[in-house]
Amino acid sequence: MLEYDVFIVGGGLAGSRAAVEIARTDPSLKVAVVAKTHPIRSHSVAAQGGIAATLKNVDDADCWETHAFDTVKGSDYLADQDAVEILTREAPNVVIDLEHMGVLFSRLDDGRIAQRAFGGHSHKRTCYAADKTGHAMLHELVNNLRRYGVQIYDEWYVMRLILEDGEAKGVVMYHIETAQIQVVRAKAVMFATGGYGRAFNTTSNDFASTGDGLAMAAMAGVPLEDMEFVQFHPTGLYPVGVLISEAVRGEGAYLINSEGDRFMATYAPAKMELAPRDITSRAIFTEIRQKRGINADGSGGGACVHLDLRHMGKEKIMSRIPFAWEEAHRLLGVDSVREPIPVRPTAHYSMGGIPVNTRGQVRSSAEGLVEGFYAAGECACVSVHGANRLGSNSLLECVVYGKVTGSSIAADVQNRKLPQVDEGRYLEEAQQQIQGLFDRSGEYRINEVRQAMQDCMSEHCGVFRSDELMGEGLGQLEALQQQCGQVYLDDKGRLWNTEIIEAMELNSLMVVARTILTSAHNRRESRGAHFREDFTTRDDENFLKHTLAYYSPAGIEIGGMPVAISMFEPQERKY
Ligand SMILES: Cc1cc2nc3c(=O)[nH]c(=O)nc-3n(C[C@H](O)[C@H](O)[C@H](O)COP(=O)(O)OP(=O)(O)OC[C@H]3O[C@@H](n4cnc5c(N)ncnc54)[C@H](O)[C@@H]3O)c2cc1C
Repeated sequence: MLEYDVFIVGGGLAGSRAAVEIARTDPSLKVAVVAKTHPIRSHSVAAQGGIAATLKNVDDADCWETHAFDTVKGSDYLADQDAVEILTREAPNVVIDLEHMGVLFSRLDDGRIAQRAFGGHSHKRTCYAADKTGHAMLHELVNNLRRYGVQIYDEWYVMRLILEDGEAKGVVMYHIETAQIQVVRAKAVMFATGGYGRAFNTTSNDFASTGDGLAMAAMAGVPLEDMEFVQFHPTGLYPVGVLISEAVRGEGAYLINSEGDRFMATYAPAKMELAPRDITSRAIFTEIRQKRGINADGSGGGACVHLDLRHMGKEKIMSRIPFAWEEAHRLLGVDSVREPIPVRPTAHYSMGGIPVNTRGQVRSSAEGLVEGFYAAGECACVSVHGANRLGSNSLLECVVYGKVTGSSIAADVQNRKLPQVDEGRYLEEAQQQIQGLFDRSGEYRINEVRQAMQDCMSEHCGVFRSDELMGEGLGQLEALQQQCGQVYLDDKGRLWNTEIIEAMELNSLMVVARTILTSAHNRRESRGAHFREDFTTRDDENFLKHTLAYYSPAGIEIGGMPVAISMFEPQERKY
C-alpha cells in the first residue's frame, strides 16, 4: 500500500497550486499528485482569456469590493459572499505570486501586467497571456511541483475514494499503462478533478472532463451542490463546439444575426457583447429560435450567429487573440480578419460540485464535514460562482482556493495519523470491478450509450428547460443507466486499454448527468444559467438556497443549504 501525508487527485491548476502551497508551508510533508492525463494536459492548459484581479494597472478606480459585487451580481445572488470576499481580496496577491513563479503575462508598454475587459466585470481587470493564459500558468505550476519534490503519478486513473465512518482515508487507482491496481492511504485526500463538460454532446471541454471526482464523492455518500447550474459559453465554434474565448469580445468583437444587427442591444443594452454568459447564451438561442440564425450561405434561419472581428484589424487580432484566429482557421478554414466566425453556445463550466467550506474542507451535509477530505477548483463548490460564473473568475478560483486549501491541509495533517485501511478488501473489489468489465458479454458499445446520454442531456437540460422536457430526460437516463450495465469491451488486452477507462468514465458521467437533471427538475425558478420556460422569474422566497443532492443507485434525494449573504442584498439583475 502506498502511504502519503497528502494525496491530491488532479494535476490541473487547483491541484498543482495546492501542492505548491503545502510544500512551501511544510517541506517535510510527503505529498503526491495523481492525474489520469499528464498534469500539463489537464484542461486548465486550454484556458484562454485570462484571470481576474484588481491590480488597477489599467483602471485606477477598480477595487476588490467592486470585483466582489460584480461576481455576486453575476451569480444571480446565489454565491456565498464570505467565499467571494476571500476570492476577490486575495486575487492581486495570487497573480503577483504567479508572476514571481515565472508566469509570462502580457504587458503594458511600461512593463506592468496588462488587463482587459471581460463579460460582467465593470472594470478592465482580466490579466492574460495573449489568449493562452492557462498554458502559461499551468506549465509554471507543474515546473514548481518538480522544484518542490512533489511526487507525480501521471496516467493513473483514480477509481474509488475510500471513505469510512465519515473519514476520507485514501483512494484506489489503476495504472493505465500496465493495469496495476494500487491502494493509497493518506492523512488528507484532496480532489481537484475538474469539470464534466462531456455530459453534453457539444462542449468546449477536453475528453477527460468526465466528472470522475464528483461521481466518486457522490457514490461514497457525499452530497453534490448546485449541480443544476451548468454554464453554456456563448461562443462555441459552430459546429465543433470548441471555445472561441470571451477575450475576443473583450477586445471588441460583435455578435451579429442574419439581419446584420448587433442583437445584444435588445437583451443587454448597457453591456452589449460583454453581458454575462447566461444572458448572452439565451440571447443567441432566442435569435436562432426566432429564425434570425445564419446558414452557411449567409441566409437566415440557420443554427448559429456570427462573431465579427473584421473591424478590429489584423494587428490587434494577431497580437491579442492569435489562438482564436488559429482555431477558426484550423478547424473551419475561416480567416477571421476577413470573414465572421460562426458560433453557438457550448457546454463549458460546472458552477456546482463537491460542497466545501472556505477552508476547502468537504461538507457531509449542510452542517457537517468529512474528516480528512478536501476539494478545490472546478470540481468543488465553495460557492463563488453561484448560478452563473463570470469569465476569468475560474482560473482565479483555482489559484486562490488551491492555495487556501493547501494551507488548511498543511495545518490539519499535523494532528492526524495515517488511517487504518483494509488494503486486501479494496484491492479485491477493484480487481473484481475490472474483471467484471472484461467478462461482460453485453449488447451495447460504450460510445453508443455515451452519445445517447450526451444527446439526452443537451436536449433535455440545455439553455432552456421545463418540467415536461426534464421529466422526459430523466426517463431516458433511467433506461440508459440499464444499458450502461450492459456495455462490452472490444479490447480485452491489459496494457494501455483505454476502453476500460472509457467504461469507468461513462459510469461517472451517468451519475453526474442524473444529478444535474434531478437538481434542475427540482429548482422551480429561473436563476442565472438555470432558465425554466415554466417558471421564468427568480423566486427568492422559495429558492434563495443551495441545492444539496444525495446520490444513491436507487435515487437522488434533494436537500438545501442557506446562502451566505454578508455584503450585498439580492436585487433584480439588469445589465
Ligand atoms: C477551453 C476552455 C477555456 C477556458 N478559459 C478560461 C479562462 O480564460 N479563464 C478562466 O477563468 N477560466 C477558463 N476556463 C475554465 C477553467 O480553465 C477551468 O475551470 C479550470 O482550469 C479547471 O481547473 P481544475 O484544476 O479544477 O481542473 P482541470 O484543469 O480540469 O484538471 C483536472 C485534473 O484532474 C485529473 N483527473 C480527473 N479525473 C481523474 C481520475 N479519475 N483519476 C486521476 N486523475 C483525474 C485530470 O487528469 C486533471 O489533471 C476555460 C475552460 C475551458 C474548457
